[in-house]
Amino acid sequence: MKPLIIANWKMNPASQKEAKEIFELVKKGFKNQKNAEIVICPPFVYLPAVASGKGGFALGGQNCFYEEKGAYTGEISALMLKNMGAEYVILGHSERRKYFNETDQQINKKIKKALLAGLKVILCVGENAEENKQGKKNQVLKTQLEGCLEKIARDEIKNIIIAYEPVWAIGTGNNCSIDETMSSILSIRQIISRLYNRKIADHVRILYGGSVNSNNSGSYIKEARANGLLVGGASLLADEFVKIVKSST
Ligand code: PEP
Repeated sequence: MKPLIIANWKMNPASQKEAKEIFELVKKGFKNQKNAEIVICPPFVYLPAVASGKGGFALGGQNCFYEEKGAYTGEISALMLKNMGAEYVILGHSERRKYFNETDQQINKKIKKALLAGLKVILCVGENAEENKQGKKNQVLKTQLEGCLEKIARDEIKNIIIAYEPVWAIGTGNNCSIDETMSSILSIRQIISRLYNRKIADHVRILYGGSVNSNNSGSYIKEARANGLLVGGASLLADEFVKIVKSST
């Protein structure tokens, strides 16, 4: 299976002009790129601009709401994303959990709506520094996965990708070691196996995210056996992002 590389632009850049420039540079770097699946997740407002020049990339949103429509000022529905050309949505990102107090129960509702709209979900899970230090990582992963995947049927798991993103590694330059990433991926597969079954656990795609750059990216795929990467800061640097993708294939 080809590695899946997700670019999470977060709340960047400041203008549509810059967004288009980054996108065009990334596109230029990938003439005939067939060895990886690449998903660009820009801020919502730039989706139309990026969608119009898609060329081989899939698009994703960075969030969506758990209601379909109505009086929810400032929110974006899963169906709006789908109708705008997005195929994916990132849900449960630790920045959403931290700054917007998103709970596993809310994320679960969002996942259900996203799947209903026909989007693939990139579900982020991961422990913070304190939990890691106290040896609570596996418990945190279990709680998050149980909560986020509650009543999500077996046949829907194929549309869910799990991103292991230790909170302490996001945007800090302090990326997770290969050994620890491997063991976390294994734990996630064990949890999925218990929640569903072994076959589903073997097939679910599990990505790594947290301070990925072109020096460490290849190891996550080739040594830690991650099925792809979720790249934040480095995905805004077109050259660096192109190198990250190339090192993963
Ligand atoms: C992220 O946004 O999910 C992320 C992993 O960010 P960064 O690559 O900047 O650590």
